[in-house]
Amino acid sequence: MKVGFIGLGHMGSGIAANILNAGHELVVWNRSPDPAKALAEKGAHIAGAPEEALQGAILFSMLANDDAVREVGLDGALLTHAKPGLTHVNLATISIDFASRLAKLHAERRLGYVAAPVFGRPDVAAAGKLLVIVAGSHTNIAKVRPLLECIGRRVEVAGEAPEQANLFKIAGNFMLAAALESMGEAFALVRKGGIDAHVFQDVLSNSLFACPVYQGYGGAIVNAKFEPAGFSVKLGMKDVRLALDAARDLSVPLPLASLVHDHFIEATVAGLADKDWSSLGGFLASKAGL
Ligand code: NAP
Repeated sequence: MKVGFIGLGHMGSGIAANILNAGHELVVWNRSPDPAKALAEKGAHIAGAPEEALQGAILFSMLANDDAVREVGLDGALLTHAKPGLTHVNLATISIDFASRLAKLHAERRLGYVAAPVFGRPDVAAAGKLLVIVAGSHTNIAKVRPLLECIGRRVEVAGEAPEQANLFKIAGNFMLAAALESMGEAFALVRKGGIDAHVFQDVLSNSLFACPVYQGYGGAIVNAKFEPAGFSVKLGMKDVRLALDAARDLSVPLPLASLVHDHFIEATVAGLADKDWSSLGGFLASKAGL
């Protein structure tokens, strides 16, 4: 199948490679040229302009945020160049409002739109083991499901309205951010009391909190290993803000998200914007004078 792919950042590069490895004809476009060159070496065709990526049956996009989707033109001008019947699978974590608007804009042009945000960091993306949360019409999901199965270990349908997948993803990332906050605070507390935080993290992440979040991010925090950033403070703060926006619209109090968002702002001011978002833990230690 001919597939287009726009947005070859940390996540997009690995996902696109898996679509290529599954035997599809892939046309890629990225704002900066280097990531596309790496995929061309594996057999992808580099689009000279983004519209070339819209000439297949399916377009994937994995751009940073709402603004990036707008700047590429996927909410307007670019869609007028799409091959009739194209279905766009938007993998990015974008806002609920914008997801709903994108679905309408595609429908007006008789194009399909599916939201398929993912859980998993860039190494998981490269291994084709993402958790893919998809929402859209049954017909559109059926069309794109075989490709989603090439990039994920589980594909779960969140609903028929695309923005439901984005809400699912945003709520999940809020839980991750809350875990970073609680680990950062707890690790600072034990360290100030003279306890080895490595031992504390090892005991808890192999017993009461035995899961990848406390093991992976907990290890990063106690070892102060915040580079290279798999998922940056900048993107993490964006997702907590998206949770707050959704909470406002749905009248759900989210006081913990407000707190974590403020800490991300402080971490950004302290120069951590491009570090991994687990550096929130290191930042909280510094607030405790460590
Ligand atoms: P990233 O490495 O920063 O890549 C962002 C991509 O967006 C790049 O291709 C970048 O192009 C492009 N881009 C940004 N602004 C643009 C603009 N104004 N115009 C055109 N292109 C633009 O981000 P990522 O980690 O791959 O994340 C991508 C999405 O996946 C985000 O929505 C993020 O929340 C979500 N996500 C990330 C992770 C993770 O662990 N990293 C996990 C799950 C979901 P350039 O290469 O030219 O900069």
